[in-house]
Amino acid sequence: MHPTKRRIIFADKKGIGELKLLGKWDIQTIDEKLIKRVRIVKRADGFYVQFCVKIDSTVTAPQTSNQVGIDLGLEYFYSDSNGNHEENPRFLRKAEKDIKRSQRKIYKKKKGSSGRRKARGVYARKHLRVTRQRNEHAKRLARNLTLANAMVVLENLNVSGLVKNHKLAKSITDASWYLFRQWLEYFGSKFGRQVIAVPPHYTSQECSNCGIRTDISLSTRTHSCSHCGHTEQRDINAAKVILARANGRGGHPQSHASGVVASTSIGSNTD
Ligand SMILES: [Zn+2]
Repeated sequence: MHPTKRRIIFADKKGIGELKLLGKWDIQTIDEKLIKRVRIVKRADGFYVQFCVKIDSTVTAPQTSNQVGIDLGLEYFYSDSNGNHEENPRFLRKAEKDIKRSQRKIYKKKKGSSGRRKARGVYARKHLRVTRQRNEHAKRLARNLTLANAMVVLENLNVSGLVKNHKLAKSITDASWYLFRQWLEYFGSKFGRQVIAVPPHYTSQECSNCGIRTDISLSTRTHSCSHCGHTEQRDINAAKVILARANGRGGHPQSHASGVVASTSIGSNTD
């Protein structure tokens, strides 16, 4: 680092040399000895210098015995076993249309033309922007959930399906869920909380009150049990079933002597 720490010098003989650091950053507050690695990444809106810094970031989270089950959905981002729905962020739906439009614009320009190159840049920057928004959104929700609960239970997602589908809307949803789960695991281990994934099968058919499966179509928004008469909003019922699975019904919670666990998977994962 330059003594002023406003500049960085790459001395690895790759011909990069001295760079000026722009934007908001707090690397000047870090002792240079703690910087373990530096790399340059190219994004659609410019070059970034990433610093890998060795710092102690353990946080003491408030004592709680709260447990929550969450059902990831299409109508809501998630619904929880306490009866709350977390709305899908509007910026994602708006951005989706916008991204599609700017993607079409690329193909309207002549191949190899500067117009096409510019259109591609616009598209890439829009993509980058929504990726960052989505990440911040997932991070915020995951942080709140792990702070408020000693145990967060969710369905084991079919991650291999992520690469298969080519539909934009579906892939955005999948990517959001995947990100969300990664942040849950990150904050779970940071705060010493349990983040548990349970088998996803029949969570929307099972009754959270009596455990009996009822054949309901996905379009039915209310779970109505023909066995015990229990009625509940479909996703809330599913969230309760998910929580129950971690607590014994349909799975066995694992004990962790240390109390600190990143992520555990219960039962079989047939995906
Ligand atoms: Zn029932």
